[in-house]
Amino acid sequence: MSAEIIDGKAFAADLRAKVGTLAAEFEKRAGRRAGLAVVLVGQDAASQVYVAAKGKATLAAGMASFEHRLPADTDQDTLIALIQRLNEDPTVDGILTQLPLPKHLDEKTVIAAIDPDKDVDGITPVNAGRLVLGMDAPVSCTPLGCLMILRQRLGDLSGLDAVVVGRSILFGKPMAQLLLAANCTVTMAHSRTRNLPEVLRRADIVVAAIGQPEFIRGDWLKPGAIVLDGGINRLPPREGEEKGRLVGDVAFEEALDHVGAITPVPGGVGATTIAVLLRNAIVAAYANADIPLGK
Ligand code: NDP
Repeated sequence: MSAEIIDGKAFAADLRAKVGTLAAEFEKRAGRRAGLAVVLVGQDAASQVYVAAKGKATLAAGMASFEHRLPADTDQDTLIALIQRLNEDPTVDGILTQLPLPKHLDEKTVIAAIDPDKDVDGITPVNAGRLVLGMDAPVSCTPLGCLMILRQRLGDLSGLDAVVVGRSILFGKPMAQLLLAANCTVTMAHSRTRNLPEVLRRADIVVAAIGQPEFIRGDWLKPGAIVLDGGINRLPPREGEEKGRLVGDVAFEEALDHVGAITPVPGGVGATTIAVLLRNAIVAAYANADIPLGK
């Protein structure tokens, strides 16, 4: 048996096209473009790449992109003052602070300064609370993308056994909440979980958000399960390679012989995140401008 490989790029292209249509409609009705601001502090190479990609995708979707690149030694008051200006700026609908922040900044305080209605990453305490309470809220982009893929493929998720491996604030925790709200029976596994293979063998749905290359083996997975591999891990380069290969948290080749469907790395979950960010930004724009979405 060979599993179906879920195409994250195709999913993202489809979602971007939908966002583009909504953005054009928004511009007509609001008399301005929807706006997404991204704040980057410091020179972290991966963050620079992500921020550039987000800016490009925002413009391509027909929205305005505001990039704020601050030096690595920016102090907390300056950063919070910028966030407050963006909170008050009526042309900015979404604000994303690229994480991780340099060590001297207090991430929790900075995040809490973002207006929850502009929090397109869904990480402010207010939005984390709204998610738990089952209220409408922006939700962290990567887990929301995973839920959208699952709904597209399986429809109603009620009663399915789901295991989320990893409990980070940006990924594992919101993922588990989304699955619970979709009526799955959810288990959250983490580094202290005993006998992970046994826990995983019960799962109809597995979401891996660990950050350990190929940690989850194929024979830990239930036959026919659907596996969303969120891990992005670069292996050390082999001889002749300039850069090592990117792999997920699941041993992909092994899993193909066991599961029903799986996302590859790259080209799976990771490929969907920016499209979901654009979706969160346009939803925030409609709400902030008081325009009913889809009418
Ligand atoms: P964190 O490092 O914040 O969290 C990792 C989680 O995995 C922790 O909860 C940890 O448990 C758990 N964990 C670590 N090792 C094991 C293990 N051996 N067995 C079981 N659980 C384990 O990572 P993130 O959530 O930020 O990211 C996870 C992965 O997802 C990374 O590869 C990251 O690159 C990727 N990612 C991808 C995104 C995208 O596609 N755009 C976005 C965000 C992340 P404990 O809490 O006990 O320490």
